[in-house]
Amino acid sequence: MEIQRTAVVKLSVPDQRRDDLKRTMNTFRDAAQRFANRGWERDDNGYVITSRSRLQPLVYDDIRDDTGLHSDLTVAAVNHAADALTGCVDKMKAGERPSKPVFTSNTTVYNTSAISYFDGYCSLAAYGSGRVHAEYVYPDDSLQAEYMESSEWTKQGAKLRYDHQTDTYYLHVSVKQEREDSLEEAESRTVLGVDRNVDGYLAVTSTGAFIGNADLLNHKRREYERRRARLQQQGTRSAHLTIQSIGDTFANWSEDVLHQTSKRLVKEAMSRGCSAIVFEDLEQIRERISNASKFQQWAFRELKRQTTYKARAEGIAVESVHPAYTSQRCSHADCGFTHEDNRDGDQFTCQKCGKELHSDYNAARNIAHRFIQNRLKSGSGGATHHLALKSGTVNGNGDYSPSTV
Ligand SMILES: [Zn+2]
Repeated sequence: MEIQRTAVVKLSVPDQRRDDLKRTMNTFRDAAQRFANRGWERDDNGYVITSRSRLQPLVYDDIRDDTGLHSDLTVAAVNHAADALTGCVDKMKAGERPSKPVFTSNTTVYNTSAISYFDGYCSLAAYGSGRVHAEYVYPDDSLQAEYMESSEWTKQGAKLRYDHQTDTYYLHVSVKQEREDSLEEAESRTVLGVDRNVDGYLAVTSTGAFIGNADLLNHKRREYERRRARLQQQGTRSAHLTIQSIGDTFANWSEDVLHQTSKRLVKEAMSRGCSAIVFEDLEQIRERISNASKFQQWAFRELKRQTTYKARAEGIAVESVHPAYTSQRCSHADCGFTHEDNRDGDQFTCQKCGKELHSDYNAARNIAHRFIQNRLKSGSGGATHHLALKSGTVNGNGDYSPSTV
């Protein structure tokens, strides 16, 4: 099965070549518009021309003569226009009355003849003295670097986009990979396991991110409660107003802490290319947090609620698994040894294989593992669900692929 992805990479374009790229972009857009105009004028039978091969000869030479646009970019402009015209005809068939395509975006489409990829940079067809060489700029820990640099991904055509606000060029590269896996729904699901806590770190992920300070949250809560108790004893009207005010302040502050934490969780999932975030099932976990205060229990639930809607906005699913033994099971490779002695507070030491790691990190890995196992059992292609780990991924069969980042 073929897997397609789009790598989005910021480009560092030499100052003296920025205008050449911009001019190329403007000319490309104008060329695409001229093709679209011609196609929209209809053929002799009154039909919109959507075929590239019919559209191209009608204005290709004129455009090349008028603009001197690179031949491959002119071909890409035809394709761009034909796609847009096809979209219009589809709408007409559906009974709509679309208007003529108008190209306004700052985009140049590069097919594989107009762009070449090298280690760390690409070369783009453009006006001026030869091709423009632009270096890739990757954020830390980016999946984009893997798409661009790993030999497992084959790079195809690209779209160059210009962002006005930041004066930045971004390259959107189509990459593909042939995999033996067969279930498309499953293939892309890299899951982020999350262990939530009422003390220590609010959330720890299977990728080894330790997020949010639950102790600080608890400390501030106790402080607030002490102050409130003192004010209540005073019993004056002004004391009551103060209670209300510090109550609001604390509520805002604590919600904000959870917002920051949930935001970072979703960011972590995005940066790892995860399509699901997995928590422990709240209903089943009740026992474990039953000793926690009402406030801590609220924070615990609220973190999942906030993560859920933020994740959904990014197209990331939020799932739950049964929490049994996630803190006692060894998450190392094929070990899986489960014993209560494995865990001593924050420290997890496997009594069988000797693996040592942070208890919450171990639990988060087990949460992701369980989700993948469940999928395997239900036959929905869990073998291809990748568990996002610190330095690579492990799938449900335990195959490890090191990250190239
Ligand atoms: Zn072990």
